[in-house]
Amino acid sequence: MKLLEGKNALIFGVANDHSIAWGIAQAMHAHGAKLAFSYAGPVLERRVLPLAEKVNAAFAEQCDVTQDDQIEAIFTKTAETWGRIDILVHAIAFAERDELMGAYYETSRAGFHLAMDVSVFSLTALARAALPLMTDGGSVMTLTSYGGDKAMPNYNVMGVAKAALEASTRYLAADMGPHGVRVNAISAGPLRTLSAAGVSGFKLLYRHYPEVVPLRRQISLEDVGGAAVWLASDLSSAVTGEVLFVDAGYNILGAPHPMAVE
Ligand code: NAP
Repeated sequence: MKLLEGKNALIFGVANDHSIAWGIAQAMHAHGAKLAFSYAGPVLERRVLPLAEKVNAAFAEQCDVTQDDQIEAIFTKTAETWGRIDILVHAIAFAERDELMGAYYETSRAGFHLAMDVSVFSLTALARAALPLMTDGGSVMTLTSYGGDKAMPNYNVMGVAKAALEASTRYLAADMGPHGVRVNAISAGPLRTLSAAGVSGFKLLYRHYPEVVPLRRQISLEDVGGAAVWLASDLSSAVTGEVLFVDAGYNILGAPHPMAVE
């Protein structure tokens, strides 16, 4: 049974075929959604356009989410192409590499602003721009991480950004609910992507993850894609402002399994 037949999805954050946004795109395509993509900059065009073709995307256009005119342009293009959208996927984050190692108190003012602008404010800017096109209601979703709830080594300013992103999710959900638009966040466990490679020590966390988590395995792009399809579909029609963990159970633990610390 296809859950997203007749729905139009605009997806931000595909950098390559390891991106979480690509996992979500494939799952939504399999469930019958029509897709369009936005990617960060010209260097990504070579990698994103062939992926967009694979899922018969309506278009794939550049948009740096720190630029208001580029946001306006992509939503104008979307309005001209479809008139209406049902699903907005925000899978975007950025912080300078040297902010993702060492002590959080060393975070620079400029690094803090950049991480907040790209990783947090962009959700608000994109959701605001999407709202007039969600004429039949809609589902907005973003990607967060447990580092927004608890202090994690080296995650630093990105953890603070994720906490603000989750708060933004709740405020947007409260504002947009009366318009029939739901806003949720997926808190994903570790996946080997370009962004993840920027966090110092990520490989170690990734390697030991299956020893620690209740399900004793890594999570996959398919796991996140499945959750995203559910959030986009009418099956989750009364779910809004939530953070949905797709982490094989990591967040429920108070201490690691004894085998993991032997
Ligand atoms: P990814 O493939 O590197 O995707 C991140 C995307 O954000 C890239 O397409 C990147 O483009 C884009 N981006 C950065 N700055 C941008 C800007 N100014 N304008 C527009 N786009 C911009 O990594 P990912 O892991 O799939 O990340 C997707 C989301 O999942 C992020 O919010 C991340 O924090 C979250 N997440 C990841 C994990 C994990 O373990 N991988 C776990 C939990 C949550 P460029 O490549 O050009 O910078």
